[in-house]
Parts: sequence; C-alpha cells; structure tokens
Amino acid sequence: MSDLSYTPLEQIPKIHATLKKTFDSQTTLPLQYRKNQLYQLARLVRDNKDAFVDALHKDLGKQKLEVVLQEVNSSVAMCIDSADNLEEWAKPEKPKVEPHKEHWNITVNRVPKGAALIISPWNYPLILTVQPLIGAIAAGCTAAVKTSEYTPTVSKLFADLFPKYLDANAYIIVKGAIPEVTTLLQLQWDHIFYTGNGKVARIISAAAAKHLTPLTLELGGQCPVIIDPSYDIKLAAKRILWGKVQNSGQLCVTPNHVLVTRDKQEELIEALKEVNKEFYPNGALHSSSTFGRIVNPGHFRRLKALLERTKGKIVFGGGFEGERGIEPTVVRDVPHVDSLLEEELFGPILPLVPVDSIDEAIQWINNHPHPLALYTFTEDEELKQKVLEKTNSGSLIFNDCVTQVAVHEAPFGGHGESGHGYQFSYYTFQTFSHFRSSLDMPKAFVCTLFVAFEY
Ligand code: NAD
Repeated sequence: MSDLSYTPLEQIPKIHATLKKTFDSQTTLPLQYRKNQLYQLARLVRDNKDAFVDALHKDLGKQKLEVVLQEVNSSVAMCIDSADNLEEWAKPEKPKVEPHKEHWNITVNRVPKGAALIISPWNYPLILTVQPLIGAIAAGCTAAVKTSEYTPTVSKLFADLFPKYLDANAYIIVKGAIPEVTTLLQLQWDHIFYTGNGKVARIISAAAAKHLTPLTLELGGQCPVIIDPSYDIKLAAKRILWGKVQNSGQLCVTPNHVLVTRDKQEELIEALKEVNKEFYPNGALHSSSTFGRIVNPGHFRRLKALLERTKGKIVFGGGFEGERGIEPTVVRDVPHVDSLLEEELFGPILPLVPVDSIDEAIQWINNHPHPLALYTFTEDEELKQKVLEKTNSGSLIFNDCVTQVAVHEAPFGGHGESGHGYQFSYYTFQTFSHFRSSLDMPKAFVCTLFVAFEY
C-alpha cells in the first residue's frame, strides 16, 4: 500500500537527523521543558476531543462514549499525572550500600536514552500513540512516532496537531506503512517501542539487533479465562462479555476464549444469553449505538472464515452486516484443536472450550504461549495461589476482565510471546530512561579491592 499523504521516504533520514540533533543539543533535558511538553500533549488531546471522536468513528466505527472514556480521558490524565510526578521520578537515587561503601557517593541517575522510535497500532490509535510518547517525553527523549496506516484519519489528525502543540524538532509523526517502517528501521535509534503483533515484532527485533537497540514489545496473544465452578456464573458471564464486546473484541487484553468445566457450560451459555440481551436488547449491529465495527474488510473476512471452519456450535450471534459488522458471537463445545483457537481472534467471537477440571485448564494454558493476560473467576484463595504459581502471563486478573488497563500505577506488559518490557506512567518513564550509576570516591579512600571483610 502506498499513499501520497504518507511521509516521503527520503524525508525519514532527515527526521532522524533532526531528532538526534535536538537530543544532542540537550533541549529536551530540563525537567521544566519535559513538563511543558507533557501539558501541551494533554492540551492537544483535550482541545481536539471532538476531532478525535470523529476520526475514530470514521476509521474504526468507534462510538463516542468508548473513545472519550478509554482514550481521551485516560490520555489526558496520564499526561498530567506524569508531569506532576516527574520531579520525583527523575530524582537521582542513593542506593543502600554495604557500610564500607557508604562514603563512595554512589548515585543512580535517570538519564534519557536518546532519540526513540515509537510504532503504534490501529486498535486504540489515540491512547496507544500517546501512552508511549508520554514516557519518551518524561524521560527527556526525542521521538519519531509512526502511526497506523489502518487509521488514516487519526494519523492525519496527529500529523496536523503535533507541530501546533509540541516542539516540532523533538516529536515528529511519520505517516506510512511497511516501506516507511522498513526505512525507519534501517536507522539507528536509542530505543524502539513497538505495539502490534508477534510476526512484525520479529522483523522489528531483527532490525533492532543490528544496532543493539533496546526494545519494548507490546504484543498480544490469546488471553484465556478460567472459571471456578463455584463462582457466580452470571457475574462471570457479564464481566467476560463486557470485556469481549469493547471495540468489537479488537483489544489486546480481550478475553479470547473461556476454559469452562463441562458441568457448567450450559449455565454459562444461559447467563451469556441473558447478559447479551441486557447489553443489546435490539441486537448489537443494527440498532446499538455503542457497538463498534471491525477495522477493515480483510479482518472481517478472516474472522468470518474462522467461524465457517469451527467445529463448535454457534449459541447466539453469527450475524454479519456489510463488510465490517460482526455480532457478538458465542460458540460452544469448541474442541481443543479448532480454527477459533489457531490465532488471537481480535474480534467479537467467544469460544467456550469445555475441560474436565480446573487442573486441565491450567495444563491447557501451560501448553500454549504465555498470554498477555490470564483471567480467573474464583473466590477460593487456594485456587488463586495455585493459578499464580502454576501459570505464567503478562498479568493475572481475578474476577474481572480488561480493568487492569485502568491501573496506571502498576506495570503493564507481556511475557514471552506476548512481549517484553513495561509501560504505564512511571514504568514508561523508566522504559525510556537509562539508569546510569555514578560513583565519586573521596581522596581519603585506600583501595580494598572491593570486599573489606572475609565471609
Ligand atoms: P499492525 O499490523 O498495524 O502493525 C503495527 C505496525 O507494524 C504498523 O505501523 C505497520 O505499518 C507495521 N508493519 C506491519 N507489517 C510490517 C512489516 N512487514 N514490516 C515492517 N512493519 C510492518 O498491528 P496489528 O498487529 O494489526 O495490531 C494488532 C496486534 O497488536 C494484536 O496482536 C494485539 O493484541 C496487539 N496489541 C498489543 C497491545 C499491547 O499493549 N500489548 C496493544 C494493542 C494491540
């Protein structure tokens, strides 16, 4: 795909040179500069709230409430939070050391890594662009931000607004697709932050390795759900379906499938039917103003084909609208090897996979790559501990779905196939910072060759 509105390829090395030059000039170093830019980024989003709502509706069919609550408000809040906490985060740290090193004046300094490259995806194109940028600005880096070609209206809006609100020599939007990313990746960056899928992540990793560039990979995967048979099934159904229908299931932490004990499948199906009726009394597609659309006809066809090949039985849903609408669809009795479990679904389809026991569910999870999130519905503290100890995932959530993305005070990131590195507030600041230790030895020091006593 190429587009005249994309950043010309020959412009990309010039952008890189500008960002390097600005960083070397130390313009982005003072904390006051970084705070100003963070407040400006908050203004960029807040002042243009309606334009972002319209752009997201045009590109993704997203509804206003979803955009305002999940992307606009969170972006603004995170900018302000980072600006307000920056002095504290950036403070040099005096680590606790062994007594004989106390006079060595040891300090851990947070220094910016340099010129960063941020590559953002299409599914939450506002917050997933702003979120890493906040960390880059807070840390004192400059940044090129490559937005997604699948959300051209949002990308254009960012490209128009960046120079109006931010330092145009320090933060630059690159619009484009694979050729533009390929050109960006040939250059030496001081950190690369990629959000997207595992296949492209391997291309990014190989390119980063050539320059030994540190890398954050925010990827996806198949986030499973386990339900303890003694848990309130109606409540679990409500929270699972709520997680599944947001952005029409195009969310990296959406519950991908439910591992349900055979004796509870029927009860879960009835509960999901009831909840679906509560959410969309007149159907999700034709009458609801809160249900989104699939990003493009290609992904729509991919999901349709997976549904056509499943050996499970559709319980409800399975209806389509045009080239982008898919109803919330629950599929029962999905066997352990099935089209619906081949890849991350990234759509409003919820497969129910019967298992004989919770132990079998845990085994299933351990036989698959580490997911970005694991959801477990239980009030049994022993089972919680068992799931914590016996499984692995980016994060572990008990008794809810998706709400972990609202907890900006804790790190968010994948593990193994779902990525590596962390983001959210302080953790994004940390990602774009180098922890540079320094030591200032007093004149009176006599070399002890490190250990002043014997063990
Ligand atoms: P995508 O295909 O839009 O890819 C992201 C970027 O990679 C785009 O800028 C695109 O131009 C570039 N790209 C695509 N193919 C390329 C190639 N061959 N060479 C170089 N660059 C290339 O994004 P996507 O994969 O459709 O996004 C969805 C995925 O992202 C899902 O797996 C989802 O789970 C994951 N995701 C993760 C998070 C997180 O925070 N962990 C958040 C959102 C989405």
